[in-house]
Formats: sequence, C-alpha cells, structure tokens
Amino acid sequence: MIYQWFQKVAELINKDTGEANESPKLIVAIRIITISMLIYVAVSGIIYIRISNIFVMLILIASFITFLFILIMSYHTKTRTVVYTLNILTLIWVTTIVNYFGWDVGVQHFIVVMLILSFFSGYAQYRLKICYAIALCIFRIYLYFLCHTRPSIIELDTTLTFALQLVNTIAIFWCTSVIAYIFSKDSQVLDGKLIAYNDQLVSQANTDALTGLYNRRKAKDYMAALVKSNEHDSISLAIGDIDFFKKVNDNYGHDIGDVVLKQVAQTMKTTLRKQVFIARWGGEEFLIVFPSRNGDEAFVSLDQLRKNIKAMQFYAGEKNFSVSMTFGLAEYDFNGDIEVTLKEADEKLYIGKANGRDQVVF
Ligand code: GH3
Ligand code: MG
Ligand code: MG
Repeated sequence: MIYQWFQKVAELINKDTGEANESPKLIVAIRIITISMLIYVAVSGIIYIRISNIFVMLILIASFITFLFILIMSYHTKTRTVVYTLNILTLIWVTTIVNYFGWDVGVQHFIVVMLILSFFSGYAQYRLKICYAIALCIFRIYLYFLCHTRPSIIELDTTLTFALQLVNTIAIFWCTSVIAYIFSKDSQVLDGKLIAYNDQLVSQANTDALTGLYNRRKAKDYMAALVKSNEHDSISLAIGDIDFFKKVNDNYGHDIGDVVLKQVAQTMKTTLRKQVFIARWGGEEFLIVFPSRNGDEAFVSLDQLRKNIKAMQFYAGEKNFSVSMTFGLAEYDFNGDIEVTLKEADEKLYIGKANGRDQVVF
C-alpha cells in the first residue's frame, strides 16, 4: 500500500515535461521542492493554528495555492518559465512571511535555496547568474534592515518561533540537499567512471598484452625513476633472450611460440618474486632489474631462473620440448647513464650467445 503510493509519487515527479529537449533533472528538482513546500506549508499550518488569526490562515492558504500552482505549471510550461516563476513567487512569499512573523522564523534562508537552484538551471548565462546572486544578496540585506527597523505585524511567542524555526531549518536543508544530490549524482558517477577508465588505460599502456609483464615503455620510466630516487646502494640489471626461439616458431608454430613466451614470463615472476622488476623488452627478450642487489647477488637469482626455465616442458601435440635462455648481467655504477649499463648487459648477452648460450654472463 505505502509502496504503491510511493511509486505513484515517484511517477508524478518523473513525468516528462510538456516541452521536448529539456533536462529532466531540473524539473524533477523543482517538483520535489514544490511538493516538499506543500508539506511544509501544511505542517506550519498546524503550528500556526495556535494563534487562530484569519490573516495567518489566508497567508497559509495563499502559500499552498502558490506552490500547488508551480507544481501544476511544471507539467505544462517550459522549465525555464517554471524556474522564473518559482523564484519570483518564493521571494514574494519570503518577504510576506518575514514581514508578518519576523526574522527569527528563518524563512529568509529560502533565498539561498533559490540561488542554488538558479545556478543549476540552464547552461552558460554566467553573467546573468552572478548578477542574480548579487541582487539576492542585496535583497536579503534589505530584508534584514526592514525587519530590524520595525516590529513584525504578528508577534509570535518563543515556543511558536522555535517550532517554526525548526520546520524551516529542516525544509531548507532538505531542499538544498535535494538540489545538490540531483545535480551532483551524475557527475560523481561520471568522475568515478573516468578515473577507473583512466587507470585501465594507464595499466594497458604499461603492460605487454601477451605476457602480462610490463612493457619496454614502462621499463624505461621505471629505470629513470629508480636512478632518480637514489634510494638503493646497488642496482643490477639483466637482459635475457630465449635461445633459438625462431626454431620454436618454425617447428611448432607461432601459437606454441606464444605459449612458450607466456609460460617463461610466468616462471620469471614465480622464481624472482617481488622486489624485482620484469619487463618484456622486445620479441623474446626480457629485462630484469634488481634494485638493492649487487651483481653477485643478482647472478645467483638469475642462474636459478635459468635452471627453472630449462626444466620447463612444453607440449606441441605428441611432441614435447624445452627451451633455454641466455642472460647478460651488469651493475649500475651510479655515475653515468643507465643506458650504458643496459648496453653492457646487451653486450654480455651476445658474449653468452657466442659462447654456447644457456648461461648467465656477468
Ligand atoms: P638466438 O638464440 O640467437 O636468440 O636465436 P633466436 O632464434 O631466438 O633469435 P632471433 O632474434 O633470430 O629470433 C627471434 C624470434 O622471435 C623471431 C620472431 O619471429 C620471434 N618472435 C618475436 N616476437 C614473438 C611473439 O610475440 N610471438 C612469437 N610466437 N614469436 C615471436
Ligand atoms: Mg633469441
Ligand atoms: Mg632476440
């Protein structure tokens, strides 16, 4: 029952505007605000009953009709016209209430609600919006002087003032939150999506699609950052190349070659574990950076890796085969360009190739 009632209200609020090409957000905000104002007027009516004054009742009825009129208008008129009408009528209404019941009742804060709503309505027109903000500010100051230079028409006792102040405060916070929620929701969702998408792009830009290792571009950034950070006592780096890999492709096909590359990459990760940076440097070449490890220490790890890779078995239909790798290892001297160390590692790799492959040259 309550759920159905709730659904009907939701339908009523979300119903399309009479005009095409209008953002539904603004009109939804206006409807929620006007419906809230109708409830607000009804609740204040209950509070005002205590003073049973005919003028007060007339003001309340006029207020109710005003907000009802705006609500009905939102189904038939351009949103922009509704915004203008809501602003003008609310300002007249605020002036009347402040005049009758004084400043302490707190309705003047509805001016700020109108200001926020105006800023979210329509695009561009910033000059107009700023002018409107200034005008509202002056208007509020004027109201303050008006109220404090002469007594209000109807004097309210403290309890009544307190009750009305409470109802007004709740209504104002509610209306402001509704506007802020409706207009920030999409942008926050969008921001979140953009950040996630950006992370994904960055990760893709740094990763080799086949092996899941870092790519050459990331490797260069990493080495530059590593040298710059100056945090490590020693840095060693190695370039490893699969021996006779062309034969693997020729004998078993390119797809099996890809499987070999993936599994070799996996063995590198599991053998060397953390605190070692591994990248696919090119085709079947890999770069391994050992921060905080000197050449001798890195040599031990690399030789273990070489053995582990050699022990791997690959299958191509009925046949099985294995591969070996040659590594060239060099230590960074902290004096020059790390490119020089890279070149040294590369030269050692070729020495290893020339000396029979399947070895680590340091
Ligand atoms: P060496 O021991 O001297 O290194 O001999 P090699 O055959 O490994 O050397 P070479 O550089 O002549 O061959 C490398 C081969 O790696 C050639 C190329 O087709 C293959 N290759 C490069 N990238 C990929 C890839 O992504 N997938 C596959 N399947 N093969 C690749
Ligand atoms: Mg090779
Ligand atoms: Mg090669």
